[in-house]
Order: sequence, then structure tokens, then C-alpha cells
Amino acid sequence: MTQNADHVLDHLELFRGPEYQQMLANKKKMFENPRDPAEVERVREWAKTPEYRELNFAREALTVNPAKACQPLGAVFAAVGFEGTIPFVHGSQGCVAYYRSHFSRHFKEPSSCVSSSMTEDAAVFGGLNNMIDGLANTYAMYKPKMIAVSTTCMAEVIGDDLNAFIKTAKEKGSVPAEYDVPFAHTPAFVGSHVTGYDNVMKGIFEHFWDGKARTAPVLERVPNEKINFIGGFDGYTVGNLREVKRLLGIMGADYTILGD
Ligand code: SF4
Repeated sequence: MTQNADHVLDHLELFRGPEYQQMLANKKKMFENPRDPAEVERVREWAKTPEYRELNFAREALTVNPAKACQPLGAVFAAVGFEGTIPFVHGSQGCVAYYRSHFSRHFKEPSSCVSSSMTEDAAVFGGLNNMIDGLANTYAMYKPKMIAVSTTCMAEVIGDDLNAFIKTAKEKGSVPAEYDVPFAHTPAFVGSHVTGYDNVMKGIFEHFWDGKARTAPVLERVPNEKINFIGGFDGYTVGNLREVKRLLGIMGADYTILGD
């Protein structure tokens, strides 16, 4: 075997091992309806020509391999930038599994996120009960300092109202009335993960700024010399923010990094 417990390989090296090469060749031959390699090579070369480039740029209703994901993915990323916060996505489980696997692969460590687990009945009758039970379970199981709520396509298409749902969930005792549950609507069919990140950041700031859902006084702006730094969606945030802190430190600036 190419790999064993004493010799663990990254996937790049692992898949070059003879047993994997054999397995991939078998898969191609038996299941992938392979094309003539000469034809594949011809198309590959054609894709480098000006003719292909013109056809490619002329497309208006199609994007191939867009480098963007849906809003709730950015929403989840924004939420985990706050200490002790768990992202809560009001929608179906499959979406949340995608965000979690994406972040777990990217950061090479497990990432936590909960879903209100909406299914067909919630899609027809609304997801209020899912919100009530979901918030109660999240609060009881994870004991987070804050739960940041966002939405998937399904919740947005049927028009679930997060403000009303969270208020009702608090009235039903899912979480205490003064507990922080900031939220943002993050319809996945508008914008991208960057939009979702911004929406949740705005939702969290508005929550604290506007009196924490009427459980605290509205804050007043008091200008001072301090810098607030909001980096935005950045997949390299771990290293980049370390460098930003170093630079701000060299400049002797007093700062708060929001979402670190
Ligand atoms: S696009 Fe919609 S269905 Fe797909 S993962 Fe995003 S929220 Fe879920």
C-alpha cells in the first residue's frame, strides 16, 4: 500500500500511488464513457484559440465554474468570527452540510454550524416550529454566547420572517428574552458568499447598536481615536489578520478587529 499509519500522505501524492492509478483507470474505462484521447487533445488545443475566446466572451446567460458560493456560506463564516458564537442556518440540512464540509476542508479542522432542519412540511407550512425547537436545542446543547441566524434558499422562497420567528421563539422560552440572537436574511439566489458575509456582519452590528432587540438601550456614537477594522470575507483570514494586527501594532494604532 502507498499509505499506512506510519506514512500518511496528502491526497496529491496519495492518488499517484499505483493502486489508485489502477483504480482510476478502471473507473474511467468501466463507468465514465471515455472519449477518444486524440479528440480530447484536439478540443484542449482549440480551447486555447482566439475563436474559442471570442465564443467564450460572447456568452451572456452562463458562467462556467463561477468562483462564488451562496450567501449563507459567507453568513456562517462571518458568525464564527465572534467569540463563542454558533452559526444557525434556518433551512435544510444539506445546505449546512455543504458549508461545514467546505470550511472543514479549507481550514483543515472541524467547523460547527447548526441547521433548523427544514423539510417538506416546513416548506409548505413555514419553518416557525423548526426555529422554536432549533434555537432551544442549540442553546441547550452547545451553550453558546450568541446564536447568529441566517437563511437558505428554501426559507427565503417561502418568505419566513426571522424577526418575528425569533421573537416568537423567545416568547415560547427557546432562549431567554435578553439572549443575543442577531439575524440576517441571506437569500442564496442573490449575490454571493461575500454578500452573505456582509449581511450577517451588518445584522450583528445592528443587533448590538439598536438595543439588542429592545432589551437594552440604543447605543450612541462616541467618536474616539480607535480604528474599527472589518476585513470582509477572506479565506486567508487566519494569516492575514495576524499580519494586519502586526502592522497596526507597528503603527501604534489602537484598534478593534471585527470578526477575527
Ligand atoms: S444555493 Fe440554496 S440550496 Fe444551494 S447550498 Fe445555497 S442555500 Fe442551499
